[in-house]
Amino acid sequence: MIGMQPFNTPTRTIMTPGPVEAYPSVLRAMATPVLGQFDPIFLTIMDEVKEMIKIPFQTTNEEAFAIDGTSRSGLEAGLIALIEPGDKVLIPAYGRFAYLLGEIAERAKAEVIYLEKEWDSVFLASDVIKAIETHQPKIVAMVHGETANGQMQPLASIGSYCRENDIFFVVDTVATYGGVEIKVDEWKIDIAIAGTQKCVSVPSGLSLITYNDRVKKVIESRYQQELGLSKEFRNKRHISSNYLDLSQLQRYWGNERINHHTEATSMIYALHEGLRLLTNEGIEMSFKRHLLNDKAIQAGIEAMGLSIYGDKSTKMPTVTPIMIPKGIDGDSVREMLLNEFGVEIASSFGPLKGKVWRIGNMGYSSRKENVLHVLGALEAALIYQGADIKVGKATQAALEVYLMTSK
Ligand SMILES: *Cc1c(COP(=O)(O)O)cnc(C)c1O
Repeated sequence: MIGMQPFNTPTRTIMTPGPVEAYPSVLRAMATPVLGQFDPIFLTIMDEVKEMIKIPFQTTNEEAFAIDGTSRSGLEAGLIALIEPGDKVLIPAYGRFAYLLGEIAERAKAEVIYLEKEWDSVFLASDVIKAIETHQPKIVAMVHGETANGQMQPLASIGSYCRENDIFFVVDTVATYGGVEIKVDEWKIDIAIAGTQKCVSVPSGLSLITYNDRVKKVIESRYQQELGLSKEFRNKRHISSNYLDLSQLQRYWGNERINHHTEATSMIYALHEGLRLLTNEGIEMSFKRHLLNDKAIQAGIEAMGLSIYGDKSTKMPTVTPIMIPKGIDGDSVREMLLNEFGVEIASSFGPLKGKVWRIGNMGYSSRKENVLHVLGALEAALIYQGADIKVGKATQAALEVYLMTSK
């Protein structure tokens, strides 16, 4: 090991559904000096982060903060804050990440009920509501944008039904937060969870969460203080994880500032900068930018003669799943893109593994030059590998989208 050289990271064009390219100023923010987690300067940064997190969620919730750990730490923290052993959790699953919610709920000793369907489209709200009526769950947990298959579930009527029937509605908005409209309050979402490495363009390592007063009441009723801090506040119904205990985390992010974990202060700097850039761009402008780049990606892919997987009317603007043409090895095309063009795209999971590529369109990676580059590179790699595509059309179709829009 002695004499080892420092590593070199190449510059990539990352067009996957996360992690995506980080804003240069986010990386600069991470390189600023470390502060202690109770330093008053750092506490001000935290307070600003709290307020900025709420903007893409479009919520007036009091509680919104970051959790150390990738997005699934927030999914787990949110679910276990509500789940007590034996609670019924209904999970309408139209893709991979719904099963992650179920996996977490099962380990928290919930009774998990899946409502399943093909992955090529979303649920009819009426089918979900019917299942809720049948099973009478305590919690309905869903994914807003299913990154695995690029579908996006409309949530408003399911949320309203849950609220009217006093059921908790927990939503994974990891792949849509910041890039697509999310209306936590209007859609009656009780807990919403996001991450940093998708449309916020911050490296992975934090999860973002917001929840309303209905949830806060449950969390408060389960608070247990650590024995090392005091012998008071023992609680038989305490949340099953210490690290992901929202009753303690909200007291660190709130005025009490209790001593829990050592905050990852450099990551919070990064988040502050990512959210600041998003807020300054304006979320409406960000949604528009993602929509325009999505339109160009779709136009380019179809002009090449490739087809897009699933129901296009409910496709997420932040992911485009593409059917891999017959006779083409998906992984060797991806390898060629990375090695020869410095472009990364993704494969998929479960039943779509080997059948679908996914082009992400998220955050700082969602830029015209990236879109034109990935389309040109994909076309060249496909020609090289002998695929039967329409040559010379993809980049032109995307250019047309951009030039038409700028007129
Ligand atoms: C990426 C993603 C996750 C997992 O996020 P991690 O940050 O890897 O924990 C969960 N849900 C959805 C919808 C995602 O796109």
